[in-house]
Amino acid sequence: MRTNPRPPKHNLRLLHSLATRFSGRSLADRVDAILPQTQCRQCGYEGCRPYAEAVARGEADINRCPPGGETGIRRIARLMGREPIPLDPDCGQTKPKQTAWIDENACIGCTLCIQACPVDAIHGAAKQMHTVISIECTGCELCLPPCPVDCIHMQPAAETSAGLAGLLGKFRRRKSAKLFQERHQKRLQRLQAKRRQKSGRPKLDPHPSQNRAGDDPRKAAIQAAIERTRAKKSSLSGKPRA
Ligand code: SF4
Ligand code: SF4
Ligand code: SF4
Repeated sequence: MRTNPRPPKHNLRLLHSLATRFSGRSLADRVDAILPQTQCRQCGYEGCRPYAEAVARGEADINRCPPGGETGIRRIARLMGREPIPLDPDCGQTKPKQTAWIDENACIGCTLCIQACPVDAIHGAAKQMHTVISIECTGCELCLPPCPVDCIHMQPAAETSAGLAGLLGKFRRRKSAKLFQERHQKRLQRLQAKRRQKSGRPKLDPHPSQNRAGDDPRKAAIQAAIERTRAKKSSLSGKPRA
């Protein structure tokens, strides 16, 4: 049995208008300001802002953000005038802050990780090794699945939680969240501008011969690298390749 149902929508509307009237910021702005801006999508939304908007509309519960953890839930609950509830385990677990690093010797420069990173924290060009700027990395792990050679790894981020160092840590986390939010916004704007530019261009032949998978040198290089990595892994494990 749920002990703490979501507030009815008319209460949310009242909260929303009061929040906007007295702070100049909407309820969604205020929820968004609490979220850690990891942009990891574990909440089931495309990023922190869409989740904040869903919470403000009363469409999403307040316990869907694992990176924000219990502290985040408590703060959103206070803002929404309700009791906190435990983190929804379907969304994942709260983990210590991590950052990604790339094994540059194994990287084949396919750029797939760049396309996946929500805050443009990965730098590199096609066919060149890539590197993560750790201060810009939110630890979202979205770059891990697309890497065809599994050369991206997560490592614990240096963080302190006690005494003055803990206070400074809190301040740094808020500063980082602001930086992540700005970088994510810039990325969305850049992608939108690119899409607009593309849609304004004359249409290309939808089936040019160089676009066929077998003829695309980039795809062929990625496939060859995947095969090499698989072969290396099976020789290490002693198992025959599937
Ligand atoms: S940090 Fe991740 S789970 Fe939390 S609101 Fe942002 S995108 Fe959703
Ligand atoms: S580098 Fe990877 S883990 Fe770090 S923000 Fe980008 S996608 Fe997320
Ligand atoms: S996805 Fe992996 S192999 Fe491709 S550029 Fe990124 S780190 Fe390198």
